[in-house]
Amino acid sequence: MNHNHIKSRLNFYIVLLACLVLTVLATINVHNQVRNQSNNAFDSIVRQVVSAIEERMAIYIDAHYAGIGFLSASEKIDREVRPEGWREFVRAMHLVERYPGINGLGYAVQVEQKDLQKFENSARNLGLKGYKVKPEGLRPNYFAIKFIEPLEANKPALGFDMGSEINRRKAMERARDSGEVTISKKIILVQDAGQTPGFLSYVPLYQGGVIPSSLEERRNKFIGHVYAPFIMNDFIDGIFALELAELAKKIRLEIFNDLERNEGSLIYRSDGLTEQSKSNMLSKEILIDFYGQPWTIRVVTSPEFFDFTGRYLAIFVLIVGLSLSALLLLLIASLNRTREKAEQLAEQMTLELNRNNILLAQSNEELNAFASIASHDLKEPLRTVSSYVGMLLLQLKKIGALTEPDASVEQCQKFILNACKRMSLLIDDLLAFSRVNKDSEQCVNLEKVNCNSLVNSVIAEIQSSIEEKNAEILIKNELPVVLGYATNLYRVFQNLISNAIKYSGDSALVKIYSSALADGSGYQFVIEDNGIGIAEEYYDQIFQLFKRLHGKEKYEGTGLGLAICKKIVEQHNGKIWVESKPNQGSKFIFTIRTQE
Ligand code: ADP
Repeated sequence: MNHNHIKSRLNFYIVLLACLVLTVLATINVHNQVRNQSNNAFDSIVRQVVSAIEERMAIYIDAHYAGIGFLSASEKIDREVRPEGWREFVRAMHLVERYPGINGLGYAVQVEQKDLQKFENSARNLGLKGYKVKPEGLRPNYFAIKFIEPLEANKPALGFDMGSEINRRKAMERARDSGEVTISKKIILVQDAGQTPGFLSYVPLYQGGVIPSSLEERRNKFIGHVYAPFIMNDFIDGIFALELAELAKKIRLEIFNDLERNEGSLIYRSDGLTEQSKSNMLSKEILIDFYGQPWTIRVVTSPEFFDFTGRYLAIFVLIVGLSLSALLLLLIASLNRTREKAEQLAEQMTLELNRNNILLAQSNEELNAFASIASHDLKEPLRTVSSYVGMLLLQLKKIGALTEPDASVEQCQKFILNACKRMSLLIDDLLAFSRVNKDSEQCVNLEKVNCNSLVNSVIAEIQSSIEEKNAEILIKNELPVVLGYATNLYRVFQNLISNAIKYSGDSALVKIYSSALADGSGYQFVIEDNGIGIAEEYYDQIFQLFKRLHGKEKYEGTGLGLAICKKIVEQHNGKIWVESKPNQGSKFIFTIRTQE
């Protein structure tokens, strides 16, 4: 696995990790927000629950004080309250309708042991048939229930001495001694057929209708209690039916008559609430002093508390996050695969290219070797032919076959020698043509070439043909120094200037000039003559190998000069072309674009 693969794998895992971390963070964040909102909502619900219980009880206590008022007023006008009076009073209060959850409103009188008989008699005289304080037995005093309404639901309680049971007695004595509203510890009401937990509330009544200031006085002047029995289920269900109606489905309640939760002190538990309830519910415990009793109220959320959005938002975010991560990963994986394929392909192609380059270099080398060997070996028989033609003539003269100079034989010898010369030129030109690319392929030997000196050397070399044709060479401007292959450029100028002289009549005028290219990438050279010119249809053909427009009799040549020029100019990133009209001279133009 190469460096790039390791890097792309690493990137892949980094993106994967980043996506997962972001998803988890977003999920946790949403989860926390939902939880905070739920917690806040729940806290406010818990406060509502506690105040609903307290407010409801305060209303019930007011009903007690109405009873106290009724009894005090009756006492003031020396009228003993009869059972019908209490019934009428309770009925007028619309107890059942206006105070749902309260099980009745009663009046219990404190009776000393010595007065018990008298008290029972007087109660019977008031119309309470067969009235008897129960349970039977001698106790220092009794807190006997004298009235309780509605009577039908509470009949078993009538005559019951609430002082006979320790929890009731304690609460009643505390109310008597303190003058304050008191409730009892958890009790089971005698009239409750279901025998479920409940409690009793007591408001003390004193002679004179006011609460005496000292404990002694309060005990002396104490008459009895207005009290109310409560069955917890009815009490709390009443609250849920009214004040907490909207929350009824969202929460469950547990109430314990103690400082802390324990099954023994449980006084209320909503249906469906068990210790095995779901662990993700919210719960809170509040301890209140409920008219002298410690009540631990535990509020627990039901599944309906969490609405759909709240419950599933975090899961939704998680699923969306994971899906997006998966998509992103698929995308990256496919991009990686594509890149890996492209890299493999590029690698293969590079290998192939290198192999081809090596093969090309080899075949070029072989070709060059072949060209020079071939030219050497081809020239060898030419030299032999040339020299043996001379020897043949001598031999002929020696044996007397050629006694006098014979024009036709000399003509033959001349043709043979000319042909050999032309063949030799052809071989030289072919060799030159094959060697043009050699240096540029290796990209070496690029040198600064002063074209002025180059052209002057060419002129010096072909001086004899210049004079022969009475030609004039005019270098119109200072030619530039260019970067290139001096030998090859020399050959270009030599071919073009020679052609200009060769393809002109006598008094040839050859103009040579140059200019820098407009884009600054090199130079343009022009070799202009006043010769025979070229028809337009041959503009391209003349640069092809062996392409000649005239017979060798008229103009000597191999047909390779311009092909060599083209190859060399292209080797210098340039172009060569001709502008000409027959009999009006030609302009050979070429550019050189080799820059430092
Ligand atoms: P050659 O050895 O025949 O000169 P070149 O490749 O140099 O071969 O030229 C190809 C042909 O282009 C020539 O045969 C000639 O017909 C034509 N030509 C080249 N230069 C000129 C010129 N300056 N004026 C007219 N014709 C030319």
